[in-house]
Amino acid sequence: MPGWNLKNGELQKCKMSEDEYWSLFNFVFSDACMKRNTYKFGLIKSIMDNLFNCAQDGYGSYRLSYNAIFEKFTVNYWNLVLKYHLKQMRSDGRTEVSKIESILLAASEENDLIKTLDFNSLSETDRSNVVNQVSVACRKNVVGALYNDMEGKLYGFDLKRNGIMLAERAYEFMLKYKTELEKLNYYAWAKFMEKINEDDVLVKVLDKLELSTPKRNDLSVYREVLYKKFKECNCFYCGKKLNFSNRGVHVDHFIPWSYVKDDKLWNFVLSCQKCNERKNNKIPSEKYLEIMLKRNEQMKDIVDEFVNVEFKNYDSSQFMSLWKYAQLSGLKPYVQENS
Ligand SMILES: [Zn+2]
Repeated sequence: MPGWNLKNGELQKCKMSEDEYWSLFNFVFSDACMKRNTYKFGLIKSIMDNLFNCAQDGYGSYRLSYNAIFEKFTVNYWNLVLKYHLKQMRSDGRTEVSKIESILLAASEENDLIKTLDFNSLSETDRSNVVNQVSVACRKNVVGALYNDMEGKLYGFDLKRNGIMLAERAYEFMLKYKTELEKLNYYAWAKFMEKINEDDVLVKVLDKLELSTPKRNDLSVYREVLYKKFKECNCFYCGKKLNFSNRGVHVDHFIPWSYVKDDKLWNFVLSCQKCNERKNNKIPSEKYLEIMLKRNEQMKDIVDEFVNVEFKNYDSSQFMSLWKYAQLSGLKPYVQENS
């Protein structure tokens, strides 16, 4: 049974070992798993990029909304299809492009300029319009299919409800092996695209997949919030007083963006330029983790709409796991010069 037309599927809550999860994921990455297009890779990536937007539901699973999933999904495909012109479907003799590609092409049809823009520079209405169309198409075409390939052990779903329910163990597994799964997923995705694209667009295809999740450049809203609302006036790492009148104040991802792939207040600190450059893609030591955990505990309880949204699914034990797993993934520790 292909599963693509399933309307719902119950989450199989069995005790899965890590080996069993590896086996399921490796099956999906393999040629043995049927794929006419790249949606399954896209869905896996969107789930993994959303691990920090999941809410524990108290029944041994994590809820992740369709909106969160398909917003990331849309951004990825926007770049792959419009910016890099990478085809995502094997031609079936009747149509050349997949449903998602045709939605994106139609959205950019009237305005060629749009194709060169980041998805996030579209107006909010245009964005949510496109995300809605993508969400409708994908809920129909891929949520059930991947559910089936994963034998219901990754997530359960009901198309009438808003989102999927990730198994707790699957969630832990994805958090722990995020980097490895991401790479295997990219590799299988690239291999699939090699078969259906012309050589000239395949240049640096793995880079293009990585760049399909754009890094936000403007983090000034976080600088303002940390400075004005939380009076963070000193460098988080060296303690030096920060000079807000020049551009020397950096907004630093405590756990590097390369691992989290998301921008959330609970992961931001202010730092001086020197520390930010030295720290770069490294993980701060345990001493800093403790300061961070304390800070976040205080932050999450204040009543403020922006802060509350940012902290919606924050959980201190999850933050600790993240810190630990990011190191397992190969990121080096950051050691302060004078400590
Ligand atoms: Zn510093």
